[in-house]
Amino acid sequence: MHLGLHVGTSGGYDGTVAYAQKLGCAAIQIFSGNPRSYRVGKMDVPGLERFRDARSSAGIAKTAIHTSYLINLASEDPKITAGSLGLLRNDLAVAAAGGIDFVNTHLGSYGKRDRAEGFAAVVLLLEAALEGIAPDVSLVLENSAGAGQLCGGTLEELGAFVRAVDHPQLGICLDTAHSWAAGYEINSRDGVERFVALAESTVTLERVKMFHFNDTQISLGAHKDRHWHIGEGNIGFDGFRALAAHPELRGKTAILETPGDEADDVRNMASIRMIFEGAVG
Ligand SMILES: [Zn+2]
Ligand SMILES: [Zn+2]
Repeated sequence: MHLGLHVGTSGGYDGTVAYAQKLGCAAIQIFSGNPRSYRVGKMDVPGLERFRDARSSAGIAKTAIHTSYLINLASEDPKITAGSLGLLRNDLAVAAAGGIDFVNTHLGSYGKRDRAEGFAAVVLLLEAALEGIAPDVSLVLENSAGAGQLCGGTLEELGAFVRAVDHPQLGICLDTAHSWAAGYEINSRDGVERFVALAESTVTLERVKMFHFNDTQISLGAHKDRHWHIGEGNIGFDGFRALAAHPELRGKTAILETPGDEADDVRNMASIRMIFEGAVG
């Protein structure tokens, strides 16, 4: 797998590469702008070009943009869905300009809306976002922890989106902490085997472009989105070892979104790389 982590862009897009390289990453995830604003800044094309060049010399194989946390494609408020579509299209354009492989997005919450009606509206918005997408970019839907009326909390629902939209550039990202929160018991070899088999029968593994590798301390099925350090939560070393050893997941991209500072990043990257080296050797 291409292992990496989410890196802050305070030093510019290309500033993320040296940090990622120092930690032994083969993949990087970034925010394209302020993840808590609807405002779209002017695209930093020279910065994106430097980012692309720096990556190729640093051996960073895969890159992703994580969209703004404000995106809610399931909302019944047309102002929110229009703003969300604008942000999504902007990130797809940034990805095209920067040679970035994946634009990873949350789907949002249905709120008080009828779920079937909300589902149909999300399908239309995804189709609109995918119109004119650059050929080398994939739009990747992330599974949620499934709290309340959150969209995308089950593999069955994500599979229904994949079939309804039916676009070759629509992919899926499975966040391990969200999966555990949604009730998927991925802390053992058997549990991971069942989870991967379910992913194949719902979204299909071909569509699973990315993982977010995060441990979590919450209890199974608690529907809370809390990330924790790799191997130090309830998914634990056994869960990540089983994911690392699964032959069907080879070649996928896995991004850590673990908490803390640089020392934590160093420790978490070292943990996941050790797990993979152990699983292979
Ligand atoms: Zn996310
Ligand atoms: Zn999360």
